[in-house]
Amino acid sequence: MKWLKIAIAVMLMNLIVAGCKATQGSGDRTSDGSVPEWSAATGKGKGQSTQMSNTDPFKSGISPQGGEAAISEGGDASGSSGKIDGRPTPDGSSHNAGSSAVPGNEGGGISQTDEDLVPYHGPIEHIFFHPLVIYPELAFDGDRMSRGYDDWFVTVKEFKAIIDSLYKHNFMLIDLNSIYELQEADGKKQTKAKELRLPKGKKPIVLSIDDMNYYDYMLQNGNANKLVIDDNGEIATYSVSPKGEKITSRDNEIVPILDDFVKVHPDFSLNGAKGLIALTGYEGVLGYRTNKKDAPNYEEEKQGALRIIDRLKSTGWSFASHGYGHLDARKVGLDRLTEDTARWKDEVETLTGPTNIYVYPFGSSVLPGDPKYAALLKAGFTVLCSVGPAPYLKWMPDSLMMDRRHIDGIALKTQQSKLVDMFDANEVLDPVRAELLDSMH
Ligand SMILES: [Zn+2]
Repeated sequence: MKWLKIAIAVMLMNLIVAGCKATQGSGDRTSDGSVPEWSAATGKGKGQSTQMSNTDPFKSGISPQGGEAAISEGGDASGSSGKIDGRPTPDGSSHNAGSSAVPGNEGGGISQTDEDLVPYHGPIEHIFFHPLVIYPELAFDGDRMSRGYDDWFVTVKEFKAIIDSLYKHNFMLIDLNSIYELQEADGKKQTKAKELRLPKGKKPIVLSIDDMNYYDYMLQNGNANKLVIDDNGEIATYSVSPKGEKITSRDNEIVPILDDFVKVHPDFSLNGAKGLIALTGYEGVLGYRTNKKDAPNYEEEKQGALRIIDRLKSTGWSFASHGYGHLDARKVGLDRLTEDTARWKDEVETLTGPTNIYVYPFGSSVLPGDPKYAALLKAGFTVLCSVGPAPYLKWMPDSLMMDRRHIDGIALKTQQSKLVDMFDANEVLDPVRAELLDSMH
């Protein structure tokens, strides 16, 4: 059984984590990098496969999905259908999970009402990470998952270097929910751009974290086990070191590191905005196994998750759907996607609160005109995020499509020139990767 478990774990990691960025490009781009009008009708648009097709041995296998197993084990996935009732209110921001980045919150940062702010009309960066590698010796230990960890994760040291550099390059965290508003006209929902005002010289950046569910495979491979609240009421991580020590820390995951960074550098955050946390549901959220509804400790897990979510929302973090079972929206049928979305809303949105933002698993997006796109909109998602190599934001009459750049081992090793506006990837890359992996040969 053990080999089987390992094989399944490897497969899931490859599909799920790698998959966050298996596809690139939310639209056709001209060679100079500008974004031409996108056209669904012509079938142009989304993307090409990227490096993943070469590096992921499991890529060609279509479906053994993490969610699959969990869905079949976890009861009737269809039980939640019919609960798609979370249409956003006309005021999207007030209805959105984590629209907490407001003046006076506990997140710190610069208030948007400050007089020295100026309108900003340039590109908006959006980068994403997976949970950090806390223990490189577990992540890069030469086991079958090491390659995936080397490709798709960053270490604590790398993340800190990236944040330092973003700050030095005048980036400033903003809340994705703050750039648009939803209006209703003639009975139709419409998205409208809101003016973004920043301190002069600052550039906006959205930071998101995918799959911060702390999946079972992550617990064995050097990630945290869960988010917890420490003795001071702050978000920390619980992890187990390679020596078996149980450790609570505020210095080894994106959330507490950014929280503390903004305390020291308030001008790194507009209105206390921190980041966007994109969650699935099939193995619970944030390290709490809220998927096991029949488990004796279900209520305890749920309350644990709710405490963390409340604290996150009051400190500038917001949430997005990453699907329930991390399905590939482009590959699955309409019914399956609709069911998956409903189950996410039933099991996860009931914990996080409503959100308008959908982050496509595998970066695999569907397009306006596709019934699946309409289904996501009908479920209340207005901002649909894919993966691409450069800032990309497309306003549709009723929705908004945005690309995010993946920041991980692959990016650090192969996309130095594209990242140079944000950081020097060569300087950021943690030598511990090569040291550990080389020592295995
Ligand atoms: Zn993902």
